[in-house]
Amino acid sequence: MSPCQTCGACCASFRVSFPCYEVDVAPGGLVPEALVEPVGQDLVCMRGTASSPSRCVALRGAIGQSVSCAIYEFRPAVCRDFAPLAAVGRGDEACSEARRRHGLARLTPIAA
Ligand code: SF4
Ligand code: SF4
Repeated sequence: MSPCQTCGACCASFRVSFPCYEVDVAPGGLVPEALVEPVGQDLVCMRGTASSPSRCVALRGAIGQSVSCAIYEFRPAVCRDFAPLAAVGRGDEACSEARRRHGLARLTPIAA
């Protein structure tokens, strides 16, 4: 099982912003329009992540216990690319910071 399935900290720590062309109203876009809000001229973010405390509206479950992404197949690239080795137990700085904010120990550092 991936450590991310019992974490979810990064989905409730940072503003999850990405280009408008990833929204499903654009050709080839995947992210449901109803779940995003505008950030700037060409950017949107996942609803719930621009506020403080932050929590993406697509995050299901309890952080640090059991979580899932309601739009996993349609999540933006910034989510797909975040901490790519976390699924195998190796965290980077952003992953560690997110986990720290939620009182979770960091994963094994990538450089270790
Ligand atoms: S990438 Fe890191 S912070 Fe995000 S869910 Fe996985 S372990 Fe948690
Ligand atoms: S879209 Fe999914 S993976 Fe991305 S921040 Fe929201 S819950 Fe997390």
